[in-house]
Amino acid sequence: MAGPSLHQSAEPGETPAGRLAAIRARIGKAAREAGRSPDEVTLVAVSKTFEAADIEPLIAAGQRVFGENRVQEAAAKWPVLKATTPGIELHLIGPLQTNKLKEALALFDVFHTLDRDRLAEALVKERDKGAAMPRLFIQVNTGEEPQKAGILPAEVDDFVARCREVHGLEIEGLMCIPPVDEEPALHFALLDKMARRNGLTKLSMGMSADFETAITFGATHVRVGSALFGSRG
Ligand SMILES: *Cc1c(COP(=O)(O)O)cnc(C)c1O
Repeated sequence: MAGPSLHQSAEPGETPAGRLAAIRARIGKAAREAGRSPDEVTLVAVSKTFEAADIEPLIAAGQRVFGENRVQEAAAKWPVLKATTPGIELHLIGPLQTNKLKEALALFDVFHTLDRDRLAEALVKERDKGAAMPRLFIQVNTGEEPQKAGILPAEVDDFVARCREVHGLEIEGLMCIPPVDEEPALHFALLDKMARRNGLTKLSMGMSADFETAITFGATHVRVGSALFGSRG
């Protein structure tokens, strides 16, 4: 036997580059079958819980867009990776506390989880002090789950309007995490409908188990973790 690999949780016999190529091929196929161009879909490689040593092979294979769900964890590994590789784009896909906002602004290029006025106000405060604004997605709690973050579907139109008109923030799109026990297609269709009627063109939806379905319903950003990195155990 060869020496132990850095991470045993990935499917045996597969390399990170191989898994990346396979996911990209599936994205391309799903897009073409939906009559869309594969270029319209950005793969956000979700590297949460994985270490720099696990991430580097994907960077070497050409992946540049990554997602993390915790500011603290991202701060521990991404500054070095970003400094050594030009063109890395980091997406925050987990909830953001306002006391972590400054740190998040320094690290992340895109926030997928804008979910309340207080956070919008805190963003504006930092902008007034000179901070560049990240690209912004509003998280929608499409399943109306009490434990989950996100704007309720009935409040989305008002919140988008407030972000634009009251806070003066540019909103790029909507994001959702469907309930685990429900048909995701219903949630993807709902998110697409809400985005369209608000003039938003970007949809962050779809994870390892359902990204192809999400692409069928218009996803422009799929957030794929375990299918790329292996199970988080
Ligand atoms: C962890 C996570 C993902 C990736 O999930 P996988 O099932 O591992 O692909 C996507 N989106 C969010 C918000 C996450 O927290």
